[in-house]
Amino acid sequence: MVDVVTCGEALIDFVALRQGTLAESSLFRRMPGGAPANVAVGVARLGRRAAFLGQVGDDEFGHFLAHVLAQSGVDISGLRFTTEARTALAFVSLREDGERDFLFYGQPSADMLWRSDDLPLDLIASARIFHFGSISLITDPARSATLAAVAHARANNVLVSYDPNLRLALWPSIEAARSGIRAGWALAHVIKVSEEELAFLAPGFDDVDQAVRSLWHSSLRLVVVTRGAAGCRYYTDTHQGDVPGFRVQRVVDTTGAGDGFVAGLLVGLLEHAEPWMPEDIETIMRFANAAGALTTTRRGAIPALPRRARVEAFLDQQNGARRGRAMPRKRLKQEGESSS
Ligand code: ADP
Repeated sequence: MVDVVTCGEALIDFVALRQGTLAESSLFRRMPGGAPANVAVGVARLGRRAAFLGQVGDDEFGHFLAHVLAQSGVDISGLRFTTEARTALAFVSLREDGERDFLFYGQPSADMLWRSDDLPLDLIASARIFHFGSISLITDPARSATLAAVAHARANNVLVSYDPNLRLALWPSIEAARSGIRAGWALAHVIKVSEEELAFLAPGFDDVDQAVRSLWHSSLRLVVVTRGAAGCRYYTDTHQGDVPGFRVQRVVDTTGAGDGFVAGLLVGLLEHAEPWMPEDIETIMRFANAAGALTTTRRGAIPALPRRARVEAFLDQQNGARRGRAMPRKRLKQEGESSS
């Protein structure tokens, strides 16, 4: 039995060491990546049982990814190796204007050839949460495998979570991306989406609330719109609200912040039974914001995902600072025994 099963791509990110376009970059560091793989590791680091389903190449990079996942405590019994294609590679750099340059290698890559023949149905049915993204919805056979896994999760009353994760360059067209990503949206109970992704999925709405409500459907229980350093805004059937983000001492690299956030969100959901009251949701979102914020303090995604103790210590520190700020100055003086 596991708490969270994630499915989709595990890949290698080659991250440029200096800022600039990919053409300007000459030094790259090899980083394990792929949003669903990151989320599985994030959940395991936060102390919950996680499993990853998908496919990598039967090559050095594929075995490296399997090793990283297993070492992080992720169940990889549902990870397949293939000789038909290689492990996906993505070259990434941060341009001077703050945008990311991406270049994907492997068309098709091993993850795209993942098949539904031997899905671990018992593992999926035994999970409390099933999480997937949109990259594995781009082409068959991975698309059918993902949809079969989601259908099995739904049929077994497993809570289904979805992160749209926009990578337009991988889709055949903008329209295909919009309808393909919306197809995943229609199957989810819980969705984490960034403001940019939301604007893409619901064009024509300037207002975030209206955009979310325009995409609302009867299976949805929670939508969370992330806003970088500003935190997030959440929506249930009946409530909505903002939960501010945390300031960290130094932002080193925002790669994986969204995945760290999702890991925190899923662990929070595991620990708060439905129906979620607004206080529960605020607690869950603070935990997710803290996990996301801490992910920005180290380089890369998987290496930066925080452990539970670190998130809790960070939250204690933030709560202490909040209490300190809330206390009137007069009272502080009275309490200080040594004050003159
Ligand atoms: P994505 O990485 O998916 O684009 P965001 O950039 O919105 O998503 O980040 C996800 C979450 O990570 C935010 O909601 C916030 O909790 C946290 N986060 C991201 N960037 C920062 C930052 N610079 N400082 C503090 N927290 C951050």
